[in-house]
Amino acid sequence: MHEWALAEAVISTVVETSKKEKVKEIAEVKIKIGELQQIDEEIFRFALGEIIKEMVRDQDSSLENMKIKIEEEPSFLKCRVCGHEWSFISQSKKLSEDESESIHFIPEAAYVYIRCPKCKSPDFEITKGRGVWIDSIRGTR
Ligand SMILES: [Zn+2]
Repeated sequence: MHEWALAEAVISTVVETSKKEKVKEIAEVKIKIGELQQIDEEIFRFALGEIIKEMVRDQDSSLENMKIKIEEEPSFLKCRVCGHEWSFISQSKKLSEDESESIHFIPEAAYVYIRCPKCKSPDFEITKGRGVWIDSIRGTR
């Protein structure tokens, strides 16, 4: 369900932006997904495809040849105690495979396993690489 809602939000943003920019045909949309975002990429892609098909059927031909690129954006974390910032990937090697799997699907689990590499505090925030956003839209006017 979550993937469908995200896909709908992405497509409506793409359509609105391209209308504003007077783009007649959208060639490519690049979507970024944060490393610690809970998302099933397969379902997300399928949802995007279905929504686009429906819109093309409803006479919105601007989306007909649109390509979708999905990239993962690395996550960064920042310690609230000492201010140290580090990337999730640099520390995730130290986690067992099971732990890193569960973090991928439930970002909240990150708080159970991850500690600040400097002061060992479990009090940190995710500063980058969380959520889903549109990186770029390419098209012809
Ligand atoms: Zn710290």
